[in-house]
Order: sequence, then C-alpha cells, then structure tokens
Amino acid sequence: MESSTFVLFGATGDLAKRKIYPALYNLFADGKLSGPLSVIGLGRRELSNETFQAQVLDSLRTFSRRKVEESAELQDFLLAFEYSVLDVGRPEDYKKLLAHVQRREELLNIPENRMFYLSVGPEFFGPIAGNINTSGLGDTKGWKRLIIEKPFGRDLKSARALNDSLNAAFTEEEIFRIDHFLGKPMVQNLEVLKYSNPVLRALWQNRYIANVQITAAETVGVEERAGYYDKAGALRDMFQNHMLQLLMMMAMQLPKGSTPEDVRSKKRHVIRSVRPLLKEDVARHVVRGQYAAGEIRGSKVDGYTSEPGIEASSQNETYIAARLWIDDPLWSEVPFYIRTGKRMKEKSTRIVIEFKEPFNDLHNKNRGKLELDPNLLVIEIGPGEGISLQLNTKNPRQHGQLEPVSIKHESGNPDLPEAYENLIYDALLGDATFFAHWEEVELSWQWVQPIIEATEEGTLPLHSYAAGSYGPDAADELLGEDHWWLDEEL
Ligand code: NAD
Repeated sequence: MESSTFVLFGATGDLAKRKIYPALYNLFADGKLSGPLSVIGLGRRELSNETFQAQVLDSLRTFSRRKVEESAELQDFLLAFEYSVLDVGRPEDYKKLLAHVQRREELLNIPENRMFYLSVGPEFFGPIAGNINTSGLGDTKGWKRLIIEKPFGRDLKSARALNDSLNAAFTEEEIFRIDHFLGKPMVQNLEVLKYSNPVLRALWQNRYIANVQITAAETVGVEERAGYYDKAGALRDMFQNHMLQLLMMMAMQLPKGSTPEDVRSKKRHVIRSVRPLLKEDVARHVVRGQYAAGEIRGSKVDGYTSEPGIEASSQNETYIAARLWIDDPLWSEVPFYIRTGKRMKEKSTRIVIEFKEPFNDLHNKNRGKLELDPNLLVIEIGPGEGISLQLNTKNPRQHGQLEPVSIKHESGNPDLPEAYENLIYDALLGDATFFAHWEEVELSWQWVQPIIEATEEGTLPLHSYAAGSYGPDAADELLGEDHWWLDEEL
C-alpha cells in the first residue's frame, strides 16, 4: 500500500471518536498501514495539535477493541495526527488546508495520495467536494479518494442531486460509499461461502430454496438520535441501505472474476431484478410499525412517542417489513422476507434460508405421513457470528422419531477486526468491492420510492407493536403460510 494523507472532516464528531480513530489505531497496530502516517483532522473549533491528540487518545481508550498501552508506537501513532480549523463553507480555509497537507507531504516524504473522509452531515458533501475541486486540494500527482457515510439522500431525487454534486470533483471510481454492514466479516464471507462450498453453491437457487428471511433486529430504542431518526425512520435508516445491501450480497450470482467491478455488477443485477412495487400494492407487501411501551429483558421501557425529542403525534416508523421477489431465473417464485426494527425482543442480524420439503407429503405404509421440519441454513451476522445447518435425524431414545438437529459453527473470536477497520483498509488499497456503487444506491432508492410516497399519502398504515416483541402482527400475516423463524426456534 502506498502511503497517503488522511484528511478527516468532522474530526471532533461522534463517528470519528467511536469508529474512525479506533479503526486507524488497530490497522496501525496490526502493521497494515505502510509508510509514515499523516492524519489531518478538521473542525470548526480552534484546537492545538496536542489537545487534538489527547482527544484521539481518549477515544482509543474508550472505544478500541485492542487495549491501549503506553509505548513508543502509541506515541508515533498520536504524533501522526494534526489539526486544522476549517469551516466547510469558507474557501480560504481550504487554501490553508492545502498548505498544511503539502507541508506534511514534504516533511514526511509522502506521495500526493489524498484520502478525504467526510464524517459530517450530508448537507456538507456538495460544498466540500466543490471546495476540494477549486482549492487545488484535488489536483494531485497521485490518487485522490472520497469516503462518505449514509444517509445518502432522503429519496431518489435528493440522492441523485447529492451524487451530481460529488461528481463535480470525484469520479465514481474515486468515491467509496460506506455501508458498514458490508464491512462485517460474515457479510464479506457470504460470497466465499457459496464459492468455496459446492454443496451450498448447488442449493443456492429456487429449485431448493423455499424462502429467504433477512432480519436486523435491535433491542435499543431511538437513543440520542431523536432529531435524525424521527425524520429518517427505519426505511431510510436501515432498509434502503443495509437491508437491501444484505439482499444483494445474499442473492448475487457468483462473478466469473474477482475484481470489485465483477462483484458489484452482480449485485446491481440483483437490485435491478427486484420486482418493482406499484404504489397501489405497497400496503400488500410492506408493513410499517412503531413501538409502544413494553418490557425488554425484565425492564419496562417507554413507547417511541414518549422518548425524549420525539413528538407525541409522530407517525414515524421504527419497524419495517417487506416481501419481495427477484425476477431472475435463479430466484423466480422465491419470496424474500426482510424486516428490521428497534425495541425488538432480541438483538440479532441474520439470514435464514429455508429449504423446500419435497418429501413432506410422502406417505409410508408403515409409518404414516412423515412430518419433517424444513432444513434451515442460518447465517448469523451479529452480534455473534456463526453458521448453522438444521437437519432432521432419528432420535434413538424417542423410538426413532424424527427430530431436527443443528450443526453449528460459531466464530468464537471476540477480537475480530471491526467493520470500519476492514473498510478503511480497503479504501486505502483502492479496493471498492465492499462499498456501495452509485447504481446500487440509486436502484435501491428507486425500489423504496413507492413506499415513501404511500407513507406520505397516508395509504400505508402504521401498526403498533409492544417493545420487546417481534414486531406488529401484520408482519406475520405478510408471510401467509410461511412464518418468521424466531430466535428460540433456531
Ligand atoms: P457529529 O454531529 O457528532 O459530528 C459532526 C462533525 O461535523 C463535527 O466534528 C462538527 O464539528 C463538524 N461540522 C459541523 N458543521 C461544520 C461546519 N460548518 N464546518 C466544519 N465542520 C463542521 O456527527 P457524527 O455522528 O460524527 O456523524 C457524521 C456523519 O456520519 C453524519 O453524516 C452521520 O449521519 C453519519 N453517520 C454517523 C454514524 C454514527 O455512528 N455517529 C453512523 C453512520 C453514519
């Protein structure tokens, strides 16, 4: 990896402290950052380099997965951080930043490779990209790249406008859109699972799969993010990005090659093939919910509209479930059920693949009808990671009755690299495999747009569910004869 300058907008913010500094530290400690490290943090307040470095150290002590010990290496790491004052709207601040970047490049003999990480609100993306362009920061002899975070737009129109504003300064190949679900080790493992296991590869299609269930359930409520969340809701906060990315990763066909473009073009094929929703059909395929007061692990919790910062009349959804189909020969007629919510019974992100049961109706003269449980492949993405396969076997203690058994692999390694470590490392290498391509983002917005419109027009009801439950009853009805696989059954 060639060395580069890491320019961080929003260096005093929450994301920088909780995720970005610990990720850089762990990459550094793992010896993955080659060459001298140079990080220039930016914020509106005046800060000395020393105060900034003390803040970075503080965030490492609080959030790093690796224990932070006093050492010469730690001092080297901290000294790589310098600070510049910058107001995103002031062009002269970018000139000063350019001089700072060039001074460090010269001093440390770093080639003109520049990584711009925008850890600020999306309303600043356009102005920052424009100023990078006009200030000369973007005129480099080496590479320049941009890392941005969700939320990427509020709907199809605003996402397109945002993307146009970025394209003024960066090409698609230079833009790395973080969807941190794509940095999770088990999500990155999905392709390898299919590729390296002929058994799974053979079964990964509509001939054998009855349905696929993708769940991201949280037990927490809205926490401190009321202002943002009440405008976003589960659809924009989770579904349009993380959930549809999980769908793409699960359903994509194996690419012939292994370049980022090979993988991302297969993902685009999936999202392009998802059967479009008609606005008048939205209510038949989508369920919105909002948590009411309830109990989670023995503790009483408030309902959403009693949370601090949320209006009592809020109609925002904290839960969303959808049923969809992929119109592709590999997946035709297989329903995909997707749900995500807050204040649910268990915290878990997982994919459950339910296999068909062609022998279930078989009659055997001596034994009567065989009652088989379906085979299930369960991929646990978090908080614990693992894979399990549920099979049927005879239980010799119960007169040879059939019963399901589960073959489980749990990763059992609590010290895995965090999503942000994987993603920042890949971006520094220039590997975009696990970043969202613009067309994936655009097609995802296109698919959810009728849901946004039906919600705004009041044709998609908001169901209530008790905190600590599995979501509204209407989400069970959505599945018809199928049912959501619950934690206690897996
Ligand atoms: P934050 O409010 O904690 O920090 C924002 C940063 O932007 C601060 O450093 C602030 O000084 C800076 N800033 C604000 N106005 C500025 C201006 N005019 N000029 C220069 N700097 C300015 O926000 P955050 O939680 O760190 O989130 C940053 C971005 O990442 C947001 O877009 C957010 O939606 C996204 N995001 C955050 C998280 C998270 O866990 N915090 C998760 C996913 C995405």
